[in-house]
Amino acid sequence: MQKHNENAFDPGGDEAPLLRIEGLEKRYGQRVGCVDVDLEIWPGEVLAIVGESGSGKSTLLNVISTQLEPTEGHVHYRMRDGVMRDVFALTEAERRLLMRTDWGFVHQDPAMGLRMNVSAGANVGERLMAIGERHYGRLRGAADTWLQRVEIQSDRIDDSPRQFSGGMRQRLQIARNLVSTPRLIFMDEPTGGLDVSVQARLLDLLRGLVNSLGLSAIIVTHDLAVARLLSHRIMVMKEGRVVETGLTDQVLDDPQEPYTQLLVSSVLQV
Ligand code: ADP
Ligand code: MG
Repeated sequence: MQKHNENAFDPGGDEAPLLRIEGLEKRYGQRVGCVDVDLEIWPGEVLAIVGESGSGKSTLLNVISTQLEPTEGHVHYRMRDGVMRDVFALTEAERRLLMRTDWGFVHQDPAMGLRMNVSAGANVGERLMAIGERHYGRLRGAADTWLQRVEIQSDRIDDSPRQFSGGMRQRLQIARNLVSTPRLIFMDEPTGGLDVSVQARLLDLLRGLVNSLGLSAIIVTHDLAVARLLSHRIMVMKEGRVVETGLTDQVLDDPQEPYTQLLVSSVLQV
């Protein structure tokens, strides 16, 4: 936790948020997934959602990214034309296009975010084909460029992700998500299943890409060091509710809520 957050965030001249979440709630029968969540994300902002296992982080991320229907509440997203749209009121075709172009989703388990039975190059090219690119040379060129950007050697382009290590699979998943130049990327425990040294490399890479592309991101993590390194702002969850939100350094260095104090002092097993 010593490492300081150097990410500067300035919403600049933008007067509307990219994403606005109001009164969001998800119940599984009687069980609470998340309750009463309000949140805004601004262009270029990186938010970390932290909390113990079972606190509702993944539920919230899956609802925001329309993979789960909320029980209550709204998610509005500012489309490329500047219009705020209710994401649950989009047609199925509009929603699919949004998820393939403007949004990305990086899963903890790369097998959920990749097609394991096609080559690395095809995994990246496929996202471009989904938005209309058909030229083989351009598809292959983009795949090659993106493999290099995530530090996968060009000569692995025709290999299957099955032949890749966990860290490489995760980097391939990131390339596949970023090739369509999304504006918002969702990540659920992106470094979760990896060894510590592999995590550090992936975090460095992610941080560089997010900064250089000016991406907005929502990152779910139980690891406060990941939040420290990548996020501008932190939202702390407990039992489905938001306990505390604030600038990353402020929340981690001077937590206001007793629960956050426990979390930060590592008294809680997360
Ligand atoms: P986290 O990602 O913080 O570990 P989750 O969002 O996965 O938390 O879970 C929040 C709560 O919702 C937990 O009590 C969990 O058991 C419950 N939950 C999550 N997914 C389901 C599901 N598909 N059906 C029923 N309960 C679920
Ligand atoms: Mg989770």
